[in-house]
Amino acid sequence: YKFTSNDLIDRGIIGEGNFGIVCKMLHEKSGTIMAVKRIRSTIDERGQKQMINELDVVMRQNNCPHIVQFFGALFKEGDCWICMELMNTSLDYFYKFVYHKLDQFIPESILAYITYATLQALDYIKSRWGIIHRDVKPSNILVSRKTLKLCDFGISGQLIDSIAKTRDAGCRPYLPPERLDPTRSTREGYDVRSDVWSFGITLYEISTGYFPFREWTSPFDQLQQIVEGPSIELKIDRLSDNCKNFVNTCLNKDENQRPKYKELLEHSFLRRAKEVQQIENVSVYLSDIIDGLENNTDKFQLYYYLPHKN
Ligand code: ADP
Ligand code: MG
Repeated sequence: YKFTSNDLIDRGIIGEGNFGIVCKMLHEKSGTIMAVKRIRSTIDERGQKQMINELDVVMRQNNCPHIVQFFGALFKEGDCWICMELMNTSLDYFYKFVYHKLDQFIPESILAYITYATLQALDYIKSRWGIIHRDVKPSNILVSRKTLKLCDFGISGQLIDSIAKTRDAGCRPYLPPERLDPTRSTREGYDVRSDVWSFGITLYEISTGYFPFREWTSPFDQLQQIVEGPSIELKIDRLSDNCKNFVNTCLNKDENQRPKYKELLEHSFLRRAKEVQQIENVSVYLSDIIDGLENNTDKFQLYYYLPHKN
């Protein structure tokens, strides 16, 4: 069905990102509650039409259970509103709550499922629509009581272009060495293996509770740490060699040696994640943590950077 911004009732802010805010909104006629991402946009009318067409394709043929559902996009007062399914939280809040509030860790079987679900989504958007995500990070993996869903992938070439103009590489901590190093030729095309790196950082973070680099002071400092610094390696006794091997191959500094999705999907770390029993265990776990998060009244501080304790 078609709707306009007049049909939506604002129910408050959910979160804020680099390019705008995400609000909870009620579509009154249908009683649907949604998450609406509002991005400041400079797209002209022709661009807007094209963008809506691009999003339409994604809305119509989304058969992947791990991709967030879209309701549509609209333009209001120069903002682009992307309307999508409302989830309970995102992995950044989730993992910070588990590690730093509950003082627990995410069990390996759950890590394996998160990995499997996200990989399926990344592989799907690439093989089905030819989309490379370009912004894989914990806050773009949404969590509900039942499952996980990927969001914020570059659906629309139009939107990517308008955002790229305002984007500053210095505030993008998940970029791989080949995207930061000005001397490398790979800066032209974006390869899925750049997303594999960002995914590796994401997995490191949710496995340990910490972002793997110390906080950098400038884009140059970031470049030095990531491009010239030693490789990062996940080393934790509690985790299996299978798990560590999976994460560490994603974090290979040489992008040519990083695996692509098909290969990762065959990795033995994910063998059990595909079983029905496992999927049921996951929803029990997710539900439990989300209950905790929703009942958490003393809003504990969520630091964006939680560099590794050395
Ligand atoms: P970022 O991903 O950089 O944190 P965003 O603007 O994309 O910034 O999102 C801000 C926050 O809004 C996210 O951290 C996430 O917790 C929340 N969020 C985004 N989309 C949804 C959604 N569909 N359902 C629930 N929460 C969402
Ligand atoms: Mg986001």
